[in-house]
Amino acid sequence: MRGLVKKNRGVGNIELMDVDEPTPGPNEVKVEVAAAGICGTDIHIKHDHSFYTPPVVLGHEYAGTVVEVGSNVQDIEVGDRVVSPATAYCGRCYQCKMGHVNRCTAKNKRILGVSLADGAFAKYLVAPEYIIHKVPDRLSLEEAALAEPTACVVHSVVESTPIFPGDVVVVQGPGTMGLLAAQVARAMGAGKVIVTGTSADSWRLDIAKKTGADLTIDVQTSPDAVEIVQGVSIADGADVVIEASGSAAARRQAMEFVKTTGHISILGVQGSPTDINIDTMIEKELTMGGTWGTIPSSWVITLQMMASGQIDVNPLITHRLSLDEWDDGFELMETQKAIKVLFTDLS
Ligand SMILES: [Zn+2]
Ligand SMILES: [Zn+2]
Repeated sequence: MRGLVKKNRGVGNIELMDVDEPTPGPNEVKVEVAAAGICGTDIHIKHDHSFYTPPVVLGHEYAGTVVEVGSNVQDIEVGDRVVSPATAYCGRCYQCKMGHVNRCTAKNKRILGVSLADGAFAKYLVAPEYIIHKVPDRLSLEEAALAEPTACVVHSVVESTPIFPGDVVVVQGPGTMGLLAAQVARAMGAGKVIVTGTSADSWRLDIAKKTGADLTIDVQTSPDAVEIVQGVSIADGADVVIEASGSAAARRQAMEFVKTTGHISILGVQGSPTDINIDTMIEKELTMGGTWGTIPSSWVITLQMMASGQIDVNPLITHRLSLDEWDDGFELMETQKAIKVLFTDLS
């Protein structure tokens, strides 16, 4: 079979090449990939900006059908439609035992498409049974391929952010994560959801409106953005700000958007320190939190919310490509001309 392989360290070094078809171990399942999304992590690996162990088949946002199961597999059968997180956590370290399997500290962890485990940009992958989730019948596999980024958002917004009915929620950054966060905040009962972006984001802000945002603000052309948010609130700002852009300017503005005694959730990674006035946290009695990846419950909640229609990922799937067009797909993501690019032909 062919796989999209990061061959060795350095910028680039990615090739669509012949790789061995994987065989499942006793506790593993073999999945025929139906759809796989390009994530920021894949772009970071392309540019040698993040951790990975080459050579590795890239891709960790996927959905597919089980075609073979190992001898010890208990609950998954051939024909099951499945998704999974990327990380095969150890279950034995302190963080795992405390339930924070997303922060597993085991050395030599297998992370699909990143380290010591080939990923989803190929016809088949293998994954351990214990990380697999079955896809509800009413979801297509293309929709289910977005369960991974959605679960990251659910872990942040549902499991770690205090949103209450009626709340004014500002989401900064209309990329995949921000657009999903806006839908999740709405599903949690937010009274008003406001999505902010830059002028280059105007087409993505239009999608935010179509997927349930009450209001969008172009912060570059709206010097009164803070007043607009304050005008929607009966407090002095938003109850909750979800920072999903990873930009320093947005992080600074989050401190202005948020009400006194409000909460800021950080979803976007910036990759460098941000200059913000921490004294504002004291003066406004703010709380701020970050989350990383997903825990198993994030997936259960995500699949329920997607199956019930509370989250609709279809407007976010802007491109469907074959693996042969991988270069175009990466380019679309890097130039922010896409929201989510899916490979739907991986043969
Ligand atoms: Zn991802
Ligand atoms: Zn662990």
